[in-house]
Amino acid sequence: MAPEGKKLSDNEQGKYYVTDLCDGCGLCFSKALQNFMYSNDSSYYFVYQQPTDEREDADIREAMSVCPQDCIKDDGVLVA
Ligand code: SF4
Repeated sequence: MAPEGKKLSDNEQGKYYVTDLCDGCGLCFSKALQNFMYSNDSSYYFVYQQPTDEREDADIREAMSVCPQDCIKDDGVLVA
């Protein structure tokens, strides 16, 4: 099983988060501009805003699917 990493403190509190395994590639930002932001030194990204609608949720799910480090996670709680 792949290492899970540690949740970054920059993430907005909520369902989705990025872990410290992020390498700052920026793919998530290209998929979900509203929801991800880069750190001050651009070395990693984090969840800047939790999804506010279904479209943003889908964008984050897509970012999760393409993240090369598999470091975008959700808390496992399903939402209706
Ligand atoms: S796609 Fe994954 S590895 Fe790349 S910046 Fe986003 S969270 Fe980090």
